[in-house]
Amino acid sequence: MERVYNFSAGPSMLPLPVLEKVAAEMVNYGESGMSVTEMSHRSPDFEPIIAKAEADLRKLMNIPDNYAVLFLQGGASTQFASVPLNLLPEGGKADYIVSGQFSGKAQKEAEKYGDAAIIATSKPDNFVYIPRVERKDLREGTSYLHICFNNTIYGTKYNYIPDTGDTTLVADMSSCILSEPVDVTKFGVIYAGAQKNMAPAGMTLVIVRKDLLGHVRPEAPTMLDWNIMAENGSMYNTPPCFAIYMAGLVYEWLLDMGGLEEMKKLNVKKSKLLYDYLDSQNYFIAPVQKDCRSMMNVTFVTGNADLDKKFAAEATLAGMKNLKGHRSVGGMRASIYNAMTIEGVKKLVEFMEKFAKEN
Ligand SMILES: *Cc1c(COP(=O)(O)O)cnc(C)c1O
Repeated sequence: MERVYNFSAGPSMLPLPVLEKVAAEMVNYGESGMSVTEMSHRSPDFEPIIAKAEADLRKLMNIPDNYAVLFLQGGASTQFASVPLNLLPEGGKADYIVSGQFSGKAQKEAEKYGDAAIIATSKPDNFVYIPRVERKDLREGTSYLHICFNNTIYGTKYNYIPDTGDTTLVADMSSCILSEPVDVTKFGVIYAGAQKNMAPAGMTLVIVRKDLLGHVRPEAPTMLDWNIMAENGSMYNTPPCFAIYMAGLVYEWLLDMGGLEEMKKLNVKKSKLLYDYLDSQNYFIAPVQKDCRSMMNVTFVTGNADLDKKFAAEATLAGMKNLKGHRSVGGMRASIYNAMTIEGVKKLVEFMEKFAKEN
């Protein structure tokens, strides 16, 4: 069987040269005589792997020295709890923008630890746009504003960074991390599960400004204390070694292609192909407000659930898998992360044209 074009929202496609390198190194990495999966995380074989991964990521994202980079376990969903436990003092307040399911879950989790309010939401409009929030909309005395920068399920993305003044801005970037340059200094915390655009599942990246460390709630599990993780170089316990190694290879691949500016150009090109087609016809409907469209997750529907089903099934037979929308919203979703080639997107557009004609 040939490799297919995999439009999965996550875990998702990884760059083929990275997979091939992993395959070649699988049973014997470098001069180690063993697989990365078999290495002690505290061995001289593994230490350079994690150090290089961090150094390359810092280069790629231009992460300043006053930010810690953590490679953790638990997925982005664990960070829904880590964020309030590290940033929200007892009796404090936290503000949330709910622009989709994941930010909704993040807010619900934070409510367990204190006053976590939804200060803006696009829920009444089925999350087809991103609310606009300014400094004046934040509650007095709030510790942070939490946002989800790209909404994987609905296919929306922030086209602005909320100006929070001195208030810490926290962003879940699980599905857009490394898709384009971002100004890290605008954020106090950025976190992302690896399995959308970085590496296999099992690793969660946290980038946190160092002055925010050391204020963890006393009842917080040690494993969720960012400061402990930072002090131990992400190795308080066993880190997700293999996922870190693969993330490192993805960072190398990105640096080799010229970094995030170049990646962005490609992602603009890919998403434009799809959106231009969607705008040129009226068979498929793209529900998202135009100025909030995601470059990574493109959602569309025919307006008929049976036809949507038929679309996904026939696309699979044509070598394009996982185009079914999220189980909660239906329709179709093409996740076109960094590893998706322009050929894959062209093939999808051709298939859409054909499907529209035939149905
Ligand atoms: C997938 C996803 C999550 C959940 O990630 P897990 O690693 O499965 O916990 C959270 N936020 C966003 C934006 C996502 O896309």
